[in-house]
Amino acid sequence: MREKLKTDWGFTGNGIFLSAGPCSAESEEQVLTTARALAGRGVSFFRAGIWKPRTRPGGFDGVGPEGLDWLVRARAETGLKIGTEVAEPSHVEACLERGLDVLWVGARTTTNPFSVQAIADALKGVDVPVFVKNPMSADIGLWIGAIERLANAGLTRLGAIHRGVSSSLEMRYRNAPAWKMPIEFMRRFPETPIICDPSHICGKADLIPAIAQEAMDLLFDGLMIEVHPDPAGALSDAAQQLTPERFVSLIENLELPSEKSDSAAFMNRMSELRGAVDEIDSQLLELIGGRMEIVREMGRLKTELNVSTLQPDRWREILVDRVRKGVALDLSEDFVLQVMQSIHEEAIRLQERERVGVE
Ligand code: PEP
Ligand code: MN
Repeated sequence: MREKLKTDWGFTGNGIFLSAGPCSAESEEQVLTTARALAGRGVSFFRAGIWKPRTRPGGFDGVGPEGLDWLVRARAETGLKIGTEVAEPSHVEACLERGLDVLWVGARTTTNPFSVQAIADALKGVDVPVFVKNPMSADIGLWIGAIERLANAGLTRLGAIHRGVSSSLEMRYRNAPAWKMPIEFMRRFPETPIICDPSHICGKADLIPAIAQEAMDLLFDGLMIEVHPDPAGALSDAAQQLTPERFVSLIENLELPSEKSDSAAFMNRMSELRGAVDEIDSQLLELIGGRMEIVREMGRLKTELNVSTLQPDRWREILVDRVRKGVALDLSEDFVLQVMQSIHEEAIRLQERERVGVE
């Protein structure tokens, strides 16, 4: 957990920033029982959804503002800071009236710039900490855009949450982790705290510890995890909530790696290996550059004879062959597909640029 989350943001925590609490506030009893179980466990803020964005109508939509009063009571009793998801200005107003310590913007809301702007307008002049979840799809622009809208409204304590992205093909995870998004986010905004929400990534309690550990290995500042005293009876997200006991054991078993090591042997060997990787990357780029030269030449030939840019049979053959060769080299089929698709996409772009002048 970076220092400024303690100093500027006023949060506490043992090593990592932790948000824990139920998916939804369901009753005063459930909120207080969960908060009591989490008090003294290094939780930076207690979470509970008050307004729930359900995919289809007819489900449990959240208890509304009454639940905020339960959170305020939980804070008074346990000393935990409290936070919830806001999706529209009326939510913001209800939270500000009760002095919530932190707010977050949910994945569905981040997807919609109109909603984000309305929230930003409602927050003008109030410097409450706000976390922004990534949008439902792997669109880093919407994620950054939402944070920028809030920054433009004068908010200075802004953080990000990676909660995976939805996909109709993915079976294992509810929202598959798209690590390249938070990694790119960290590269572009090294000063902005970023935490991971393994609960909404996994959708199933058993998968959560491994994803939480992966987030630590990728240097996230912390975690947001759904905790419910009786997960099976939860009114939302029952399959992914942990009991307080499971949550505590997960946190106790997390390994917290540091970014660097002072070991001279480690640094020497790493620098040798990095040299080898740098060399291979240079060769790779030269080879790809050479391949694109040939692609341009083929593009000119196709244009002269009015042959189509896309050659479906050839492309099918290439994929079958490269996947077979890649798999023999211990590369995964998915990875070889992705690499070849990127190369092919660029080849088509180059040929079409010369042919019709599109960029
Ligand atoms: C939540 O945190 O309960 C929630 C609805 O998450 P997300 O916006 O990531 O789907
Ligand atoms: Mn949830």
